[in-house]
Amino acid sequence: LELSLQHASKLEAVGRLTGGIAHDFNNMLSIVIGNLDLARGSLQDNEKALRRVENAIEGAHRCAELTSRLLAFSRRSPLQPRALDFADFIPGLTKLLARTLGERITIAAELDGELPEICVDHAQFEAALINLAVNARDAMPEGGTLRIRVQARDVPAPEGTGSPRWVDITVADTGTGMPPAILARVFEPFFTTKEAGKGTGLGLSMVYGFVQQSGGTIAVDSSPGQGTRFVVTLPAPDRRGITPASIDQRAPDAAA
Ligand code: ADP
Repeated sequence: LELSLQHASKLEAVGRLTGGIAHDFNNMLSIVIGNLDLARGSLQDNEKALRRVENAIEGAHRCAELTSRLLAFSRRSPLQPRALDFADFIPGLTKLLARTLGERITIAAELDGELPEICVDHAQFEAALINLAVNARDAMPEGGTLRIRVQARDVPAPEGTGSPRWVDITVADTGTGMPPAILARVFEPFFTTKEAGKGTGLGLSMVYGFVQQSGGTIAVDSSPGQGTRFVVTLPAPDRRGITPASIDQRAPDAAA
């Protein structure tokens, strides 16, 4: 618990800091891009200079993409939980992932028996699963299988949550896996092993924050060469539309 509190306050601080920086940075970046675009226009007959300016424009656009991700991270909108039926949700997600992940990744989605509805923010739940899936794809450069499995879990609720049922959403890949030293840090904000411009280290932080705010937990296990498996466990409230008391509605940047 202490660890997750530390994590939460670190996330909050990082969120506020990056939000401020990203906002100013974005404004300045639009000046840079605007001027580069103008310069490009007047360089039509200087091929060498034109190429340099085009490289600079490309770099600036990458910066803009990063700052907009940082902004999205720090300004995560408050959750709007609604009842979610997996039988409706998963086929759409699978289709979206098939388009996003490319041909080399085989997607196997499986719904186990009759599943209770959960109550989550649909857009952010989808974003969290996409995050896990994109990481899985990155870990399978030669291709592989992404498995998504949804199972009901009738176990006593963790203390104080009052939710009688839980749903496990497993996202597993056949990728590179991770050694313990990396595995221990995956949920840390800004921790990434990807090359500059490819990773921000914010994906799993966001997933972690979302799951916590939704009253759930996330677990991961992985070993090199064996692939990686994330299990997101979310409460399935008793009655439709009633969110468990444990759901923390405060956005991490509520104070900002
Ligand atoms: P990013 O994807 O920008 O690096 P994340 O927070 O999503 O940020 O992930 C942090 C790091 O965790 C990744 O750089 C990678 O080293 C590791 N990781 C995450 N998911 C997987 C996975 N499915 N397989 C192997 N490594 C992973």
